[in-house]
Amino acid sequence: MAETKLTMDKIVNLCKTRGFVYPGSDIYGGFANTWDFGPVGVELKNNVKRSWWKRFVQESPDTYGVDAAILMNPRVWEASGHVQSFGDPKMDCKNCKQRFRADTLIEAHSKGTVAAEAMTDEEMEAYIAEHDVKCPHCGVRNWTPIRKFNPMFVTSRGTLESDADKVYLRPETCQGEYVNFLNVQRTARAKVPFAIAQIGKSFRNEITPGNFLFRTVEFEQMELQMFCREEQSMDIYADYKAKALKYIEDLGLKAENLRYHDHDKLAHYAKAACDIQYNFPMGWQELNGIHHRGVWDLSRHQEYSGKSMIYIDPFTNEKYIPNVIEYSIGADRLTLALLCAAYEEQALDGGETRVVMHFHPAIAPYKVAILPLQKNLAESAKAVYAKLSKKFMCDYDEAGSIGKRYRRQDEIGTPFCVTVDYDTATDGCVTVRDRDSMEQIRIKIDEVIPYVDERIQFN
Ligand code: ATP
Repeated sequence: MAETKLTMDKIVNLCKTRGFVYPGSDIYGGFANTWDFGPVGVELKNNVKRSWWKRFVQESPDTYGVDAAILMNPRVWEASGHVQSFGDPKMDCKNCKQRFRADTLIEAHSKGTVAAEAMTDEEMEAYIAEHDVKCPHCGVRNWTPIRKFNPMFVTSRGTLESDADKVYLRPETCQGEYVNFLNVQRTARAKVPFAIAQIGKSFRNEITPGNFLFRTVEFEQMELQMFCREEQSMDIYADYKAKALKYIEDLGLKAENLRYHDHDKLAHYAKAACDIQYNFPMGWQELNGIHHRGVWDLSRHQEYSGKSMIYIDPFTNEKYIPNVIEYSIGADRLTLALLCAAYEEQALDGGETRVVMHFHPAIAPYKVAILPLQKNLAESAKAVYAKLSKKFMCDYDEAGSIGKRYRRQDEIGTPFCVTVDYDTATDGCVTVRDRDSMEQIRIKIDEVIPYVDERIQFN
């Protein structure tokens, strides 16, 4: 893999120049911590989402998908606890007026060796004083006490901006599954244990966003909520820990860069919680979470909505509120991890270097690039493009030397380049070049689709 140290700057730079990701509202000087996916990036992220959906919905007969509204009845956020009590522990630097999360400050200061999530506000304040944790922005230690900060974005509905019209942009997608628990159970005739899955946008007014796509104020979550009996819940929790790890390893994250982080301190309703962390260029950080949430969510919705959330077992007639196991991973955060894992600067013979993105072919933005050897072969190359693009996302490039065009495709991770040359018209063959090995084979045009198809599957 990479011979020189991978930095986030390298990834950000490649993303901007190759059309993966641009700064949000770029021509206005950007809009902090918002990012726009470009033509290559949108394919990558869509493929990541498809791979997740395939693994966890399509291939999981006990899992049903939904796509719930972002704007929900504000009572949902009272039931979830977000309106009243949840909040991040923020501290302001009195010197430079920058705002930070106390737990993030401690984790950064201790290089991840102290689990700040297990600390009370008082313990965090004491740690910061004892260890002389200074403001990362101005280097002075002059903090306000910790105050809770509600990270929900508020907007209003209707024409009057009164409190009665207040609505929230959802800070998590999972409430869409809880409120549809009985709808899905009845319409899908689902029997416990079953899961409801969703991919969608969430919004958090984060105190310390940053590190490119890692922590943004608007992001997508891919998550599912498994409803089960209490006796089976710990086994299901363990099962999702294993499935979550296998999924990201299968996508190309190396085992040595992944680790479980079991939580010491749990929310009062939770029975177990674990993150899987990835070794990003800025260090080990959470990539996804698996949480045993007990009966908290459904019980709260029963209380706040007045609607029964009781499941009646069709075999035993038992009546109960199911336990919930949650598995949640950020699509943008995973895309960032996959960008980091794929990046390689490879020294070639002759002193040249090529940057190559070794994406799993299933998530590569383009599966095939069609390249006429010379511009006067454009017509037959475009005919190949027309044929292949019915099946795969393809790129077409006729500008510059063939070597430069191969490099461009390497940088966006295209697994196969198909070159149309002067013999193509007579022998009906094209050259297929492999991104990783750079080996080339010559095959019939009709063989290209099965050849590529076989090599891009995510199983
Ligand atoms: P963190 O501790 O990093 O704030 P969290 O524990 O609040 O994350 P969850 O609420 O469990 O995260 O969300 C599930 C997943 O959603 C996270 O593991 C992460 O992949 C993603 N995620 C959460 N917040 C953000 C964000 N601000 N930007 C991008 N992705 C995020």
